[in-house]
Amino acid sequence: MARIVQKFGGSSVADADRIRTVAARIARTYRDGNEVAVVVSAMGDTTDELIALARQVNPDPDPRELDMLMSTGETVSATLLSMALHGLGLPAISFTAGQAGIRTDDQHRRALMTSVKPERVRRALEQGRICIITGFQGVNEAGDITTIGRGGSDPTAVAVAVALKAARCEFYKDVDGILTADPRVVPNARKLDTISHEEILELANLGAQVLHPRAVELGQVYGMPLVVRPTFNDGPGTVIQAEEAGEEAGMEQYNRVRGIAHEKGVAKVTVVGVPDRPGIAHRIFQAMADAGINVDIIVQNVSHGGVTDMSFTIAADDLGQAQRLLEPVRTAIGARDISSARGFGKVSIVGTGIQSHPGYAARMFGTLSDAGINIQMITTSDIRITCLIDEAAVEHATRALHTAFNEATAAGQAAAY
Ligand code: ASP
Ligand code: MG
Repeated sequence: MARIVQKFGGSSVADADRIRTVAARIARTYRDGNEVAVVVSAMGDTTDELIALARQVNPDPDPRELDMLMSTGETVSATLLSMALHGLGLPAISFTAGQAGIRTDDQHRRALMTSVKPERVRRALEQGRICIITGFQGVNEAGDITTIGRGGSDPTAVAVAVALKAARCEFYKDVDGILTADPRVVPNARKLDTISHEEILELANLGAQVLHPRAVELGQVYGMPLVVRPTFNDGPGTVIQAEEAGEEAGMEQYNRVRGIAHEKGVAKVTVVGVPDRPGIAHRIFQAMADAGINVDIIVQNVSHGGVTDMSFTIAADDLGQAQRLLEPVRTAIGARDISSARGFGKVSIVGTGIQSHPGYAARMFGTLSDAGINIQMITTSDIRITCLIDEAAVEHATRALHTAFNEATAAGQAAAY
């Protein structure tokens, strides 16, 4: 017997039929003799619909009211799921985040959880009840409802699992597990049996459809085992665990590339003719940081005659704001011009150890070149190599890289470096 937290996302509880299917899934775990606490998201697109509704009555809704409104989405799914379990003859009970003791700070719409003290939940579990807890929300010091950011039910589930000292936290998704690439782009993407926290964070940050990064971080910090499993079949899913050798490990010769991530909607900004002196990069990037704009690839060219060019990438959605903020900085630092363009994307190979083995970079660039794709910028971290390319080439590049790095592996021809 174990204490298990199960999290079901919006598409797993999108309608009454699915809620009954999910209830049957929970019932099996419970009847196997486990204590089960469940965290749910709102049904389907409910949260988007509630936000749209709010904007219809007021284009700039008050954050406190919006949080209170959005929190109702999870209340609906939690109560319905509890009722469905009653229908199976099981003793379920639903709890709002407040009833489950989830405290947050005051930042409406992006609150951080400050403590989780689920006393009522613990007692109910000990009495043999299945506890259904609303994801995505908490209560601040003043007793007001907050939400913790879009997709926040994942981090709620891990926080609850940690507070309940659960054996593991299982995430039920409409995929078989963590895949080697986005299956909408790479139809023969393969499921991974295990993946490290670092690797999944890179895949998530780079746009792969997986777990919320805050959930992964909480799992890593508190040592909570996480499993991503399919909702609608009995597959074992993917276990997220501390780093170890790759799946196909054979001493030192195994393919370290675990997956291919891709992202569209990237813009490139170049500050042209920047005086080459201390403090300039700080001025430029402080302006971006103050506005909460995430800067990714940064390249500073070799300077000629005391001036240099500085290029970086941001999300295309942030470009308008960035241009407004950079114009006064440009004047202040005496740069000649700012040029910018949308229409870029990123492709990355991700895997622990790839950066310390130069063969991976060479093979990645060779693959893109064979596919006729021009690389605009390159960036690396310990566990990934990323190329900025034309947005229109992203899907082609992702498939080419998957063929080069992941399909060879699946066929047992892992490249040795
Ligand atoms: N319902 C919330 C959202 O759509 C939270 C979640 O789905 O995890 O963002
Ligand atoms: Mg949702």
